[in-house]
Amino acid sequence: MPVTSAYRPDPRFFDLGAEFGDPVRAADFPETRLRYRNQRAATSVGLEGLTEAEWIAAFGRFQPLTGQPGPLAMRYHGHQFRTYNPDLGDGRGFLAGQLRDDRDRLLDLGTKGSGTTPWSRAGDGRLTLKGGVREVLAATMLESLGVPTSKALSLIETGEALERGDEPSPTRSAVLVRLQHSHVRFGTFQRAAYFQRADLIEQLVEHVRALYHSEVAEGDAPGLLAAIVEASARLTARWIAAGFVHGVLNTDNLNVTGESFDYGPWRFLPSYQPGFTAAYFDQTGLYAFARQPEAVFWNLTQLAGCLKLVADAGPLTDVLNGFGPAYIRHLRAAFLMRLGVKSLGEAADQRLTDTTLALLREGGQTPGSPLRWEPLFFDWFAGFSSSARALAGPRAGVYQGEAFDAFRFALFEHEPDRPERLEHPMFAAREPEEMLIDEVETLWADIAMGANWTAFETKLARLETARQAWDFAEP
Ligand code: AMP
Ligand code: MG
Ligand code: MG
Repeated sequence: MPVTSAYRPDPRFFDLGAEFGDPVRAADFPETRLRYRNQRAATSVGLEGLTEAEWIAAFGRFQPLTGQPGPLAMRYHGHQFRTYNPDLGDGRGFLAGQLRDDRDRLLDLGTKGSGTTPWSRAGDGRLTLKGGVREVLAATMLESLGVPTSKALSLIETGEALERGDEPSPTRSAVLVRLQHSHVRFGTFQRAAYFQRADLIEQLVEHVRALYHSEVAEGDAPGLLAAIVEASARLTARWIAAGFVHGVLNTDNLNVTGESFDYGPWRFLPSYQPGFTAAYFDQTGLYAFARQPEAVFWNLTQLAGCLKLVADAGPLTDVLNGFGPAYIRHLRAAFLMRLGVKSLGEAADQRLTDTTLALLREGGQTPGSPLRWEPLFFDWFAGFSSSARALAGPRAGVYQGEAFDAFRFALFEHEPDRPERLEHPMFAAREPEEMLIDEVETLWADIAMGANWTAFETKLARLETARQAWDFAEP
């Protein structure tokens, strides 16, 4: 496989041994039609030079790249909607390899829809094309919004007809490859704890510490938990500021680096609705928008429980109690970042966060209110270059009442972070009728039904423009 010198395989998870994964083979698909290739992500790991045929061989046929041992289905357990399930594990995906990126961080090549494994249970090991398109859109949108996320690397349509209950059946199939900083899940620890294997927990602690949280001292399990609590609090805060609902926050869908992944029934909120629930099968609203911090915290308590096999409960509990304060701190930072303003210190930053949420809440509860999540941020960005523009903007008339006044006051206390952002065409030529979230929300349906690939590509190009314009520091 022709790779550049920037390609550096480093398949460390494979060294953990037989308790952590099982060698598997990819499905033999009737077709492999390239639908999406993330060339920017490929460049970050030295894979940009692959021809289309080589790309398909690697990410549709899963011929191992140089230096990679071959597909490994990862073992894990997890709580699904708070019920423990010891029959999880990679049921339709595997670890296809690990490699270093241009910042020397270790990345996984993880698949979705690559065929059955010992953990498939009654499942077919497949991914719908619609599901694949939705994962690409979610990851790209979240990246543009500065949320730590896996990156969709490749989507290949595979020519099978899948039976699924919840959509027109049969439906088209695809295989996805994502790049992510570790697929070690809270559920990976849960499996080791379930079998009372302190030795495996110790092994995992050292693996995760050395590779992803090397600032933590060797053998310091509470320290490692603290690093994971911090990263998880940051991720959760960024979801909230992005108006994102993940939908399925089971312990097998949270990883040790605080990077979100596995995008199934996700939604971006059209307006502020704390009870908004993304997954139709989430009957009780357990993973509703505003319950995500609670869900992540509960999952962290399960991870901490596993670490009791190798550490005392006291220090682990103290670390868990840091989640709330860390979340609030990260929420302030996330709202500042989205509004494009500098920190003015904790009190003023908190004022701005509170008033922004109050404004969103006020708008979200007014029937038919045009006050929606995304335009809000577009408008205030654009308005910053002159306060007059913000106040007399095209929709200024609809923002009224106390929440608006308080927000405006708090906003104008702060200074714009990067005034040059405001000059970007993205903000100069606003198109209120054609906001990013609306498109992301509807586009996948188009593609699943009629294969509107041009719209898909246009959308991704616009998200790339947004990413560059917003220019959030990459986590
Ligand atoms: P998820 O809800 O996507 O995180 O998946 C939960 C579990 O179900 C994981 O163990 C998946 O690997 C497995 N799974 C989901 N869909 C399928 C499928 N179509 N075939 C086999 N296993 C699946
Ligand atoms: Mg999952
Ligand atoms: Mg899934």
